[in-house]
Amino acid sequence: MRTKLVVGNWKMNGGLAENERLLKALIPQVEGLEGITVGVCAPFPYLAQIQSLLLGTPIASGAQAVSHHSSGAYTGEVAGAMLSDFGCRFVIVGHSERRAMYGESDEVVADKFIAAQRAGLTPILCVGELLEERQRGVTEKVIARQLDAVVSRVGIAAFENAVLAYEPVWAIGTGQTATPEQAQAVHAFIRDRLKTQDKNVAERVLILYGGSVKASNAAQLCSLPDVDGGLVGGASLSAQEFADICRAAVSERINKI
Ligand code: PEP
Repeated sequence: MRTKLVVGNWKMNGGLAENERLLKALIPQVEGLEGITVGVCAPFPYLAQIQSLLLGTPIASGAQAVSHHSSGAYTGEVAGAMLSDFGCRFVIVGHSERRAMYGESDEVVADKFIAAQRAGLTPILCVGELLEERQRGVTEKVIARQLDAVVSRVGIAAFENAVLAYEPVWAIGTGQTATPEQAQAVHAFIRDRLKTQDKNVAERVLILYGGSVKASNAAQLCSLPDVDGGLVGGASLSAQEFADICRAAVSERINKI
């Protein structure tokens, strides 16, 4: 049985006072939950703040992006080692917003995955198709391309310390969640593709669903055989909603045993 993982992606939201309020309300609600890891990925300037607020709590911290370079003349970039310095455990790579708005190609995403692991971080590798790609019936082709671009570079063993997130682009921030059938089909496709390389690694790797996850749909999504939790954007900005998602993920885990 895989453990559950629920990670909040705050995106470019928050502030010193808001972050403190949010985490102080969230921490007591997730303390004591078993069979689940909870994480929050904050904007870079707040990593020191959340490191100190989360010290001694079960919530892990993470970042939303990382440079593929390790140091040097890359103005505005942040290296993996810097994220490790501030206690990050996770870093999101290949988020669709970064692929679309910052031109991150499959190749760059693979470089970032490598940079994250070199710095001792666990990359959360996001893959997902556009609405137009789903309508054209090429969802699996797109996911396979995004996945293979990384697997062919790093090898399957690297997924012992990585997390995958299936995030259909049309579901992100739209309120239009993938149906359980759609989500399970792609999650199973991803796991089966990894199984062709190494069955054991594929069985162990966590595959999160992301795209308008809310407290009201988390239980159903997390009950799916190949969905191991969620990558949560908007709903992670509310302590109550996010805690309810974490509880739903755990209750579904217990039901699956
Ligand atoms: C995300 O940005 O990773 C995400 C899943 O966003 P939302 O939950 O708001 O759709």
